[in-house]
Amino acid sequence: MRISDDRYSRERLRMELALRFLGHEARTQTIRAWTGLSDDRIRKLYRSYLSQARRELPRHRGKSPHQVAYFTRSQQLQLESAVLASMLSLLGVIPVQDAGAAPAALPGLTRGALLCAAFEAYCALVPAAQISFEHAVFLANALTRGDQLRLGGCAGCGGLVVTERFLVRDPRCHLCTLAARAH
Ligand SMILES: [Zn+2]
Repeated sequence: MRISDDRYSRERLRMELALRFLGHEARTQTIRAWTGLSDDRIRKLYRSYLSQARRELPRHRGKSPHQVAYFTRSQQLQLESAVLASMLSLLGVIPVQDAGAAPAALPGLTRGALLCAAFEAYCALVPAAQISFEHAVFLANALTRGDQLRLGGCAGCGGLVVTERFLVRDPRCHLCTLAARAH
């Protein structure tokens, strides 16, 4: 049986994205959602990945992150969330403005690769980055839906800041919050 080039290259893209997700310690359910691979294929891929990497990767089991409050929990996380959201926005993973106005983009191969690139840029920019890949996936989905979190301009300086949608009227970045406290 002959497999068409198109189908073959799509399969290769799936595998490549799954490997990239595995490298970021993504959960099986996340890899399944973004690549469309079956759990069985992902398990096999994971085993061959381990034997190639010759190391034990920590696997995260159980539920994916679901707390929107995580991203505003501390000033450090607020700052890191803004950097990560900027990368997600720049690379087109999330809508640029007014999340919720555009139809929410679904997980897919192209968007998945951009999501990895955004996360990798964030890790390169922030030393000892705290936000895990799973949290980055959650943030991308939440900002795309725009129902719980939104990306807006700081009321003080206009810098990007991630806020809980209904909690803050005039969001401020951590620097402007510090400056306001000092006065
Ligand atoms: Zn500010």
